[in-house]
Amino acid sequence: MNLEKILPLVVHPLRYINHEWNVKIPPENLEKLTRVCFSFPDLYEVGASNLGLSILYHIVNLRADAYAERVYAPEKDFSEYLLKYKFPLFSLETRTPLNKFHLLGFSLQYELCYTNVLNILDLAGIPLKSTEREEVFPLVIAGGPCVTANPEPVADFFDLFVIGEGEEIINEIIDTVISYRSSVIGKNKKELLRKLAEIEGIYVPSFYEIKYNSNQTITVIQPKEKTSDKIISRKVNLENAEYPTRPIVPYLETVHERLNIEIMRGCPWGCRFCQAGSIYRPYRERSKEKILSLIEQSLPATGYEEIALTGLSVSDYREIEDLIKVLVQRYGDRHLKLSLPSLRCDRFSVDLMKLLEGFPQTTLTFAPEAGSENLRSILKKKISDEDIFTTLGTAYTNGWRKIKLYFMYGLPQEKDEDLKAIVSLAKKIKKLYPGISLTFTISPFVPKAQTPFQWCKQEGMENLKEKKKYLSHSLPGEVRAHSVKMSILESIFARGDRRLSEVILLAWK
Ligand code: SF4
Repeated sequence: MNLEKILPLVVHPLRYINHEWNVKIPPENLEKLTRVCFSFPDLYEVGASNLGLSILYHIVNLRADAYAERVYAPEKDFSEYLLKYKFPLFSLETRTPLNKFHLLGFSLQYELCYTNVLNILDLAGIPLKSTEREEVFPLVIAGGPCVTANPEPVADFFDLFVIGEGEEIINEIIDTVISYRSSVIGKNKKELLRKLAEIEGIYVPSFYEIKYNSNQTITVIQPKEKTSDKIISRKVNLENAEYPTRPIVPYLETVHERLNIEIMRGCPWGCRFCQAGSIYRPYRERSKEKILSLIEQSLPATGYEEIALTGLSVSDYREIEDLIKVLVQRYGDRHLKLSLPSLRCDRFSVDLMKLLEGFPQTTLTFAPEAGSENLRSILKKKISDEDIFTTLGTAYTNGWRKIKLYFMYGLPQEKDEDLKAIVSLAKKIKKLYPGISLTFTISPFVPKAQTPFQWCKQEGMENLKEKKKYLSHSLPGEVRAHSVKMSILESIFARGDRRLSEVILLAWK
């Protein structure tokens, strides 16, 4: 059986066949290059929309001495065929088995994808634990928000972690690997890891020993090698950082069918539950000129019909009004959609949306997170009830009828009246603005590492289920509810230590 015969038998074979628009064509001197495969431990449709991976793919492929390819988590049907016919999992671009790369870099965005990492390694015939991998290459690396916040639960599986932002460090890693490959002395994996550990932001988990108290809490984390006892999270200068102007355009429908332009990184607020707000500090902005130039170059290179200005809270971008005005002027007559996916819930955000004349109107999304002002102030989410009513009132008067609202429950210090406040707030909105269609996304609070709420207890399963039931039945509109069980697992893997590696291994098995 060859691969071409398997592909027609699986769902969405486009996930596995490469050749999308703007893919970097393999250079002729491939065998001489340092080869990197970026892996996203979720399906193609999710991974292909990931901005971080797209940036790294672009940066590595600017180099003449390295070549980057991609792999995504295969769906169950394709995995079964790979196992049945003994095909090792391969990269999309050159169909090279993953164990033939120098670097296999995973982007970890979500804790519940950890078992997918093991699946990818296993399908590629790569031993799962770093201690079982005697060959120097591939070095199995991970980066991304989960790693920056707390890499420990997956410590057993990776040779090294990248803590922080990847735009500069990826080149430093490749430079180190290239000089290792060309040197004639010290050819062993530990030597290479020692060299890599000298790079700021690199964490080699096997170089640290964890000691535990009798009550299972951690006594001390001790370096075993001459490595730093502190790992500094890498940050880049956003204005100078490389950004893809020819991003890959998938042929298959993906979660975001649009040109993503990151206008800011970090967030000027500091909500106590928010991991992204914590780990992407300090708040930085790209200049308006740079953003416009990126759009100017990327639109004709992709053919996208939607531009999304992305960031954690885009209404806080200093020149947002000017930026939108210029975009309306330049692209308002081109049948394009302009989206601002993360707006603060205030009147200013609606005023911004009003500027989008000429662009089709979309659903407005806001995240008050808690129902009462008191609880919102505990979260440090500075939105008053008045802000919410004024914002939605302005939106309503200007023709918006579809509003999405995000709320959490099971929050620290939450009382029954806070939960009821979500329902009464929603009912009041419905009463004030008849005909408005509300969609609610509700999720249990998940305490995350590196946030001010990291030590807070998560509420128990039964209580959370009760609260979910109450909200699902009481809110006046469509309710999309996250799974309580998954949120509890998420909390465990967001804050646990390296003893969880065994749990992940068992779960995968
Ligand atoms: S405003 Fe949004 S992104 Fe910023 S800290 Fe708060 S929750 Fe996080």
